Amino acid sequence: MKNIHKYLLNLLFPKKCINCGRENSFLCEDCLSLIEINQIDYCACAQNPIKNKLKCENCPQKISGVFTVLNEKQKLSQNLFLKSKLIPELNMYFSYLIISYLKKITTFDLNDDFNFFYANEDVKKITENISQFTKIPINKKSKNILLITKKYPDEDILEIIQNLEAKNIYIVTLFREIKKYQNESQF
Ligand SMILES: [Zn+2]
Ligand SMILES: [Zn+2]
Repeated sequence: MKNIHKYLLNLLFPKKCINCGRENSFLCEDCLSLIEINQIDYCACAQNPIKNKLKCENCPQKISGVFTVLNEKQKLSQNLFLKSKLIPELNMYFSYLIISYLKKITTFDLNDDFNFFYANEDVKKITENISQFTKIPINKKSKNILLITKKYPDEDILEIIQNLEAKNIYIVTLFREIKKYQNESQF
């Protein structure tokens, strides 16, 4: 029954790639392969973050590092982000991209007592998918936390962190906003 329902839905509203318009999926394999995984890290400072550094002395104390998954300057990534608000199915691509990114992080062993947390309902499904795939649990007490979010810095995130207790809290964000101001103090 479910399949018939799906079939009819697809017939009435065919799935089309958000980038090239090809049918059968919301993001085709070719376009998915074009999405750039971020290569540049910045420290956790909300303003004037330091490039290629995970932490500086001005970083929020409770954050051990911020990992940015996507290149926020890439139009295709931006488009995927915007459309995911209208088409929830697109979120599974974010799960895939986050997993691809996490596999590349070699600075620590992900199995070493890690735990996922999601910053809000918006990333709940994404986090569940990643947890299922990586076998890393969600929202359990743990030494090391990977906090999943779509954007950093974000005031909600800083509030959530105040209530989390862990030795290391790492932020895993889809996008990083780089704010550069002069002569302004950091929070
Ligand atoms: Zn496509
Ligand atoms: Zn910093």
